[in-house]
Amino acid sequence: MKADLVVVGSGFFGLTVAERAAEELGLKVAVLDRRHHIGGNAYSENEEKTGIEVHRYGAHLFHTSNERVWEYVNRFTAFTSYVHRVYTRHQGEVFPMPINLGTINQFFRSAYGPAEARELIREQAGELAGTDPQNLNDKGIQLIGRPLYEAFIKYYTGKQWQTDPKDLPADIISRLPVRYTYDNRYFNDTHEGLPVDGYTAWIERMADHPNIEVHLNTDFFDEQHELGRNAVLGQVPVVYTGPVDRYFGYAEGDLSWRTIDLEEEVLDMEDFQGTPVMNYPDEDVPFTRIHEFRHFHPERAYTKDATVIMREYSRFAEKGDEPYYPINTADDRAKLLAYRDLARGEKSVLFGGRLGTYKYLDMHMAIGSALTMYENKIKPHFSGGQPLVSGGVDE
Ligand code: FAD
Ligand code: UDP
Repeated sequence: MKADLVVVGSGFFGLTVAERAAEELGLKVAVLDRRHHIGGNAYSENEEKTGIEVHRYGAHLFHTSNERVWEYVNRFTAFTSYVHRVYTRHQGEVFPMPINLGTINQFFRSAYGPAEARELIREQAGELAGTDPQNLNDKGIQLIGRPLYEAFIKYYTGKQWQTDPKDLPADIISRLPVRYTYDNRYFNDTHEGLPVDGYTAWIERMADHPNIEVHLNTDFFDEQHELGRNAVLGQVPVVYTGPVDRYFGYAEGDLSWRTIDLEEEVLDMEDFQGTPVMNYPDEDVPFTRIHEFRHFHPERAYTKDATVIMREYSRFAEKGDEPYYPINTADDRAKLLAYRDLARGEKSVLFGGRLGTYKYLDMHMAIGSALTMYENKIKPHFSGGQPLVSGGVDE
């Protein structure tokens, strides 16, 4: 096959671009991935002994309020009615997360109504009232007061980011809601669920098109490969979803990433913790949380003889580790601006996805941003001759 478009990376960003270009424009698309499977970090497989679906790169929960994305993903999979809820185990006691009226009343051994609970938290957060917190520590105390902050946020965040919360940006904590009701849903989105027959079946349907050819175990920077950078650049348009610093040979320095280590264990019991995710916010426990995968699919008839759990440990990524979460220090942001300038100068190469833009993107955001790149850049180029120019790595 002679490709009209080369897509580097078969995660949701790359596959969405490839699917649209093949299906709507009839282009021949070559998709490269250096891993042995498609799907990027959303890849899942059934654990050998138990048949339980395990998300290989950490638990993935799909949720979106974007109607365009919801319509698009439903072409490839149906979703279960799964609703994500998380519990947290502090000093031998289990509380609901995110912090809600149930958490507050259990923690203070009280029966406050919403207004009384608000008043209590206002008093407890009084030490930082009226200030504009610049770091996560102060923001956390201002949001929920020091006792709840120290119990549920301070050490969890320290473990997860391997950084003192005083040195982290305040906005990380804004992702987590605080509710003065008993609503303990983790996400606020309109649509939520898990793919009925698994992530890999969904991903495979996206790639299953006569015009799409997938090349696994293929690194774009392999100089010998017929679809590697040397052979392709300047010949065929490229959508690149790998790490942007790697593309430019780390010329502006390494961007910093957090990675996670996942320790899987198969236990001879039907049920270990009774829920999909249990957080561990205490300082003396080294992992951040435990996932138990059977609970993501209560509708499936999984074995009753065994269960699969995964402990999650967080740390800074070194070269060779999988980059998972952008750390985004001031230093990183300066490097990113320099990479964006370089990206603007790359003719016929578009940068996208989590690694290509150095942005934390949930799946629905990666898919939404790929649909936008397709509509605004790829389609006008192939159907109307518009030059294919990157707006930088910030599509
Ligand atoms: P990726 O999935 O990272 O795909 C990029 C692909 O490019 C990879 O397959 C990689 O092998 C390939 N690649 C890189 N360099 C090269 C190269 N040189 N040559 C060839 N191939 C290359 N989102 C949610 O919505 N809900 C969740 O609960 C959720 N949980 C997450 C948990 C973790 C631990 C992580 C890391 C992410 C989570 N996400 C979640 C985010 C989700 O994984 C991303 O939104 C999604 O993977 C983005 O897709 P992508 O295509 O941008 O990147
Ligand atoms: N967080 C926390 N305690 C918890 C859960 C979350 O302190 O029990 C903080 C932590 O700093 C985390 C942020 O809230 O980075 C956002 O949480 P989320 O679950 O969205 O994080 P993710 O797992 O997606 O990084």
